[in-house]
Amino acid sequence: MRTSLVFLLLWVSGTAAAQIVSPADSTKKITILYTNDLHAHLDPHRVPWISNTRLVGGFANIATRVKQEKAANPNTLYFDAGDFFTGPFISSLTKGEAVINVMNYLSLDAACIGNHEFDHGWENVPVQLKKARFPVVNGNIFLKGKKKLIWNNPYTIIQMDGIRIGVIGLHGKFAFYDTIADEMIQGVEARDEEIYLKKYIKELRKKADLIILLVHQGIPGRQSSTGSTDVARNLQRDIDLAAAIPGIDIMITGHAHQGTPQALLSNGTIIVSTDALGSELGKLEINYHPVKDKIIAHKNTLGYLFDDEVADDSATAEAILVWKEKVKKITEEEVTTIPVALTRSYGEESLMGDMVADAILYAYPGFDLAVTNSGGLRQDIEAGTVTTGNIISAFPFPNTIHQLELTGADLYELFEHGAALTNGILQVSKGVEIVYNETLPVGSRITSCKLNTEELNRNKIYKVLTSNFLADGGDGFLAFKKAVSRKKTTHEIVQAMISYLKTFKEYKPILEGRIKKS
Ligand code: FE
Repeated sequence: MRTSLVFLLLWVSGTAAAQIVSPADSTKKITILYTNDLHAHLDPHRVPWISNTRLVGGFANIATRVKQEKAANPNTLYFDAGDFFTGPFISSLTKGEAVINVMNYLSLDAACIGNHEFDHGWENVPVQLKKARFPVVNGNIFLKGKKKLIWNNPYTIIQMDGIRIGVIGLHGKFAFYDTIADEMIQGVEARDEEIYLKKYIKELRKKADLIILLVHQGIPGRQSSTGSTDVARNLQRDIDLAAAIPGIDIMITGHAHQGTPQALLSNGTIIVSTDALGSELGKLEINYHPVKDKIIAHKNTLGYLFDDEVADDSATAEAILVWKEKVKKITEEEVTTIPVALTRSYGEESLMGDMVADAILYAYPGFDLAVTNSGGLRQDIEAGTVTTGNIISAFPFPNTIHQLELTGADLYELFEHGAALTNGILQVSKGVEIVYNETLPVGSRITSCKLNTEELNRNKIYKVLTSNFLADGGDGFLAFKKAVSRKKTTHEIVQAMISYLKTFKEYKPILEGRIKKS
């Protein structure tokens, strides 16, 4: 927001707001549509905590709804708050290109960059973003040690119905380093978002009437099958940022996977977000008063985007089909069959977690154990035939296996961080048994931790396998950095999963009590 020069002059002269234009006439109704964390979910999909029978989301449905809203009110804008890459296989197999291409059909007015846009390395980011036909904004991810942004577009200004809307893009520094594999961001660095937010607000003061911030920050959302409802807690970083830096009219935020059925208010900033994966298209309607230079009323709605209620936008649907055809040969290869679904859990042992950890250990059987992060498991696999496509969608990262030697004390520390449940527990391979108590203080929740029925010895060295992401301390699992020895391999985890599952004509998942709550 800026202080309106027109308003100041009128105020100083003490006369005639009414002579120029009546406040009622000058109110502008603007609709702001928003998404975040679309995660390459091009197709409608099942979200168990929304409905077991009805599909939600899908880019062809989003496109239709955006077009309908823009037709109904020309003063409509559509923004996305990042993490459009990484989800179903189409993103991994095309390094995000397919996603950008399909997003070109969504009538987007701007999007910001999320951490997952770096999943195929920092050099890939501008390569793919150049293919976007909508503005992408980010103002605080720089080439390492340089003055140059990785994507030189900190903000864009949209002119609409006589109003100038400045749209700034930023990435939270904490989220950047917390959730991106070190190897993927060697050439870039995220700098303090608060400093850059202040700078851009100052620059926009004279150029924009309204300021919208698209930001990707905070704590990552749960990748589990249950929704999380503690809106304020999950969006605390956003509330704090608005409190620290005045001047943002609207903040559209991503990363927490936390929808705002009601917009949050902090320091005069309206904060909104969706629950992710395109399950909702957020709609914030505002009444902007140009003379008062402020939003005088707002209404936010966050309804599920049910596939059976919206017709596909044909151009978008066609583009999706073209991309799927391109990768069909790879994705339709059959690997094994499963009698029940491989599901995930953030706070407990899961069938998917067991399988991935066992697959890693299968690649290097001389090791004691393998661990993988719950947050890296992105999609369940339904019962029936398991294809390569299913496996890539379940684990859509190009992560490789790293071999580490860690003390029992380090392992305890890692499992404690998992049991804090800020980033999800570590999923473990066969033979590991962990018991934790969620009611105990963070840092002392593990009540027992055994390897092959023996309690872990804090002084003993264990041979541990994990991903490069965790080995570098990703998701806050910093104790991996204390490893007494470490060796990279080029063995991809997806490949390990495929090789392991191929040894079974039918893979029968079973929960063994590897991780229990006491
Ligand atoms: Fe994110």
